[in-house]
Amino acid sequence: MRKPFVAGNWKMNKTVEQARVLVSEMLPGLQAVKAVERVLCPPFTSLMAIAAMLSGTDIGLGAQNMHWETAGAFTGEIAPAMVKEFCQYVILGHSERRTYFGETDETVNRKVRAALAHGLTPIVCIGETLAENEAGRTAEVVSRQIEQGLKDLTPEQASGLVIAYEPVWAIGTGRAASGEDANRVVGDVIRPTLAKMFGNTVAEGVRVLYGGSVTAANAAEFFTQPQIDGALVGGASLKAAEFVKIVEAAAQ
Ligand code: PEP
Repeated sequence: MRKPFVAGNWKMNKTVEQARVLVSEMLPGLQAVKAVERVLCPPFTSLMAIAAMLSGTDIGLGAQNMHWETAGAFTGEIAPAMVKEFCQYVILGHSERRTYFGETDETVNRKVRAALAHGLTPIVCIGETLAENEAGRTAEVVSRQIEQGLKDLTPEQASGLVIAYEPVWAIGTGRAASGEDANRVVGDVIRPTLAKMFGNTVAEGVRVLYGGSVTAANAAEFFTQPQIDGALVGGASLKAAEFVKIVEAAAQ
């Protein structure tokens, strides 16, 4: 049994004070849904404040990125141990990082290995662009991202990962994939690739989320798919009532 998982990626939104307000609005609703693993991923600057608000709850905290080196002359970067001071999770390889900040499968792999070495659970994002989708290259791109991004992991390490399948054309566009199409990519490409690398037990045990324009209105379409275990939610995670509804839908 894979426990449903919903994470909110706040991206570059909210000052510390605004973050506190948003969390106080959603906290009671989120705390009521024990059947779902719930994770909030605010910007780095709010992690300390939100960690304090979540302490004593069973709601997890995640960063949105991280460097792979442990310390040193990497101006503007955040090390794994710094993330670990506040977080249990870290989003890695988000398509916005790949597109705007030059992240590659190789740097994602370094970050995944560093996160695991520091006891963090990586939420590893993969997904094809619109051009790749239209060229019929989804399977090739997604399997390559897994093979290279998760290279050199042990089956035990892989079993603790969360993977977010996020078609790039669906992120922030209001144009979600269909539940059926997303389910097919997870069932026909993502789990078989994991099985080839780490064996069937790992492939069947890893949580795979869908991400891309998930809302309270369409969440159930994804959560009722057998291969999809939850969602990575961007825009809709900035609205307290809407995000709580998405989490509630994951518990159904
Ligand atoms: C995301 O940021 O990972 C995401 C899926 O964004 P949105 O829900 O806004 O499409």
